[in-house]
Amino acid sequence: MSIGDLRDLYQEVILDHGRHPRNLRRIDDANRRARGNNPLCGDRITVYLKVGADGVVEDAAFEGRGCAISTASASMMTEVIRGKTRDEVDALFAAFHKMCTRDEAPGADPALADDMERLQVLAGVRGYPMRVKCATLAWHAMEAAMAGEPEVTTES
Ligand code: ZN
Repeated sequence: MSIGDLRDLYQEVILDHGRHPRNLRRIDDANRRARGNNPLCGDRITVYLKVGADGVVEDAAFEGRGCAISTASASMMTEVIRGKTRDEVDALFAAFHKMCTRDEAPGADPALADDMERLQVLAGVRGYPMRVKCATLAWHAMEAAMAGEPEVTTES
């Protein structure tokens, strides 16, 4: 498969998640939630989490509106963080953030390999700081929710 074909495939995955977001709903009994705001692009997302007593993410969902990148990223995030502990989620975000911002291979941690492969479709934002904010908005909101903060903005 050529680089061009791969790029088209990634584009397809992003558009699919953007048009048919997974877990686009409110969790009524969520015990963590936070709003994320990306004023530069106009993306607004609320992330809902249901975290068990053992610290495992039992359910993750989001509401809001934004561009295809922010919506696709939120959609994929809610899929990959489910069933993970806070530490695992933090490690995944660190690796994802690195993938979006640095020109190097993502984390060598084999435990994250499968998830990073799925998130790889968003690596195209690298080199576009505005798009990086779109791609990481849901993750910042999720981290804020975990930390008990009600809101996060990319303007800082
Ligand atoms: Zn955006």
